[in-house]
Amino acid sequence: MKIQILGSAAGGGFPQWNCNCDNCTGVRNGTLNAKPRTQSSIAVSSNGVDWVLFNASPDIRAQLADFAPMQPARAKRDTGIGAIVLMDSQIDHTTGLLMLREGCPHEVWCTDMVYQDLTTGFPVFNMLEHWNGGLNRMQIPVDESVNRFTIDCAPGLEFIAVPLRSSAPPYSPHRNDPHPGDNIGMLIRDTGNGKSLFYAPGLGRIESHLPNIMSEADCLLVDGTLWRDDEMIHAGVGDKLGVHMGHLSQTGEGSDEEGMIAFLDTLEKPRKVLIHINNTNPILIEDSPERAELARHDIEVAYDGMSIEL
Ligand SMILES: [Zn+2]
Ligand SMILES: [Zn+2]
Repeated sequence: MKIQILGSAAGGGFPQWNCNCDNCTGVRNGTLNAKPRTQSSIAVSSNGVDWVLFNASPDIRAQLADFAPMQPARAKRDTGIGAIVLMDSQIDHTTGLLMLREGCPHEVWCTDMVYQDLTTGFPVFNMLEHWNGGLNRMQIPVDESVNRFTIDCAPGLEFIAVPLRSSAPPYSPHRNDPHPGDNIGMLIRDTGNGKSLFYAPGLGRIESHLPNIMSEADCLLVDGTLWRDDEMIHAGVGDKLGVHMGHLSQTGEGSDEEGMIAFLDTLEKPRKVLIHINNTNPILIEDSPERAELARHDIEVAYDGMSIEL
C-alpha cells in the first residue's frame, strides 16, 4: 500500500496565520531550521491511482496541487479521490469537504457520532446536498472490538476502525457527553502482503485495547501534537492542556500521564512516525534537542510530501 502525507501539522498549520510564538515567527522569517506544514491529512492507495483521503483539511487545495497522482486527468473534470474517511468531526479535519464541492458526489465514511455533528453543529452534509448529489454517507461501524470494512476504490485493503475516547468538538450537540465514535484510529491492512498501518492523529490516552493493535502494526502514524502537556500555556498561546484536547504529549511533562515516547518504547515491531504536530512543538525544529531525543528513540516526524510504502 502507498501512503502519502498530505499535511502533517495540527489545527492552525505551521506557521499559524495569526501566531507569533517563537516557532511560527522563526519559520516565517527563515531563522529556524524548520519546514512549514499544512493541516494534517493523509491519502492511502492500493494501486497508486485511486486514493482514500483520510480527513479533509482546510488546506486540501494546496495539498492536492502538491501531489500529482491525485490529479489523474482521465476526464475533463477528474480526481484521484475515490473516497473520504473522517476520523472525527473537528474543523481542521472536515472543512476541506467544502473546498471539494465541485467534485460532488463524494463517498464519505464516518461514524454515527461524526455524522450527527456534521448534520447539526457543522451541517456540511446538508449544505453540500445542493452540489450534484453532495456527500454519500457510508457508515463506519464502532460497536464491535474489531470493526472491519472495505472501500470499493481500494481493492486489496481492509480497514478496521478503533474507537478512541475523546471529546467531540465545541459545536457538537454532545460535546460534554462522550460516545464511542467521536474519534477513531484506523488500522489499514494490505491483504496481499499482510502489512498494516495504524493511523491516529488524535490519540489522548493509551487505552487497554491499543497496545495489542499498535504492537502488531508495521507502521504507526500517530498523534504528535505536543511535546509537553502544558505546552500551549508555556508558549503563552492558550490555556488548554493536551489531555483536555485529546492529545497525549510526547513526554507527559506537566501531567500525571506517561508520555507517547515511553509508550512507543514498549513496541518493537512498528516503524514509528509522529503526525499532527502543533506549531508550538519544539520537534518542528530539525536541530532541536527534542528532535534529537526522538531520534534516539527511533521516532520520526512526518512532513508534508512524505511517502511511505508498506
Ligand atoms: Zn486536528
Ligand atoms: Zn505558533
